[in-house]
Amino acid sequence: MLAPVTRVPLRQALADLPPYVPGGRAPVGAAAFKLSSNENPYPPLPSVVAAIVDAAADVNRYPDMYATELSEAIAASLGVAPETIVTGCGSVAVLGHVLAAVCESGDEVVVPWRSFEAYPIAISLAGATGVRVPLAPGGRLDLEAMAAAVTPRTRVVLVCTPNNPTGPAVHADELATFLAAVPGDVLVVLDEAYVEFVRDPDVPDGLAVFADHPNVVVLRTFSKAYGLAGLRVGFAVARPRLAAGIRAASTPFGVSHAGQLAALASLRATSELLARVDRIVGQRTRLLDGLRAQGWEVADSQANFVWLPLGEAATGFAERSARAGVIVRPFAGDGVRVSVGEPEAVDLFLEIAEAAHAR
Ligand SMILES: *Cc1c(COP(=O)(O)O)cnc(C)c1O
Repeated sequence: MLAPVTRVPLRQALADLPPYVPGGRAPVGAAAFKLSSNENPYPPLPSVVAAIVDAAADVNRYPDMYATELSEAIAASLGVAPETIVTGCGSVAVLGHVLAAVCESGDEVVVPWRSFEAYPIAISLAGATGVRVPLAPGGRLDLEAMAAAVTPRTRVVLVCTPNNPTGPAVHADELATFLAAVPGDVLVVLDEAYVEFVRDPDVPDGLAVFADHPNVVVLRTFSKAYGLAGLRVGFAVARPRLAAGIRAASTPFGVSHAGQLAALASLRATSELLARVDRIVGQRTRLLDGLRAQGWEVADSQANFVWLPLGEAATGFAERSARAGVIVRPFAGDGVRVSVGEPEAVDLFLEIAEAAHAR
């Protein structure tokens, strides 16, 4: 028998952590569209499945620790040097390694809020202190206020663009003004998890911003546009000295062999996968237009989700939506995020939203 009680203390940071709430899942056997985790509704391409099957034969071996071939392929696809690429077990893990590489205990990390719920967790676990800057109207990042929140203790500013869960992306002019105001020894992380879904011409390419600013790191992922959420592959693009530091702080062998081969196969199928992204963007337009036609006030979205600022009605709305066959992600007291899914899912969600608006 195990003695039931342990006296080993846990870190205070853990007690203070907000929990990461995963998007809801359909009950076993129930037919429902899962629009709660910003996943890609399309299954993997046959060529990607074949790569995963190939990798299965090698799972008695550790993967290539530095994902050399994948890093080189990513670098070639982006037009950067391979030593600037650091892969990890999803870009959420890479963010943790970035913070572990640059933050001392008690350092400040400026974050927009509301934004990606993984940020406060990663910041606390790094022993740093999050400084939350409220969003501007329309769910946009308030970059002016974020620059003003930088103090001598600030080591990192997180810029989520497009912002999860609200949708808008930062514009080139506001980002340029922001970067001019932030000291060069403060790291600016551009989290571009949804960059492939951006269609607004005023939104800059993070890699061009990275090229001009040595204190900028770009985070990207294979989870969303490339549809590999289940295999956990993300990466950072950073100046070589920073990249080496992030690598040193990384979990060894973080990206599985299957993940590496699947990501490589996905890069080889980029045009096919980006054609799917185009279809999702088309459904996003249909969803936004449909909601606005029903009288909803919805912010712009440059990502694969839409935000309904429902306030106190958020949780009840999400429950009714799930009963009607669409699982969305509520943020209690604030709003509901609904991912852009297959056309049938958008149709059904529009019916649910219309009924809710009429209530
Ligand atoms: C989904 C998402 C990520 C990527 O997560 P992975 O760990 O790569 O699956 C990163 N940042 C934001 C804002 C996200 O929404």
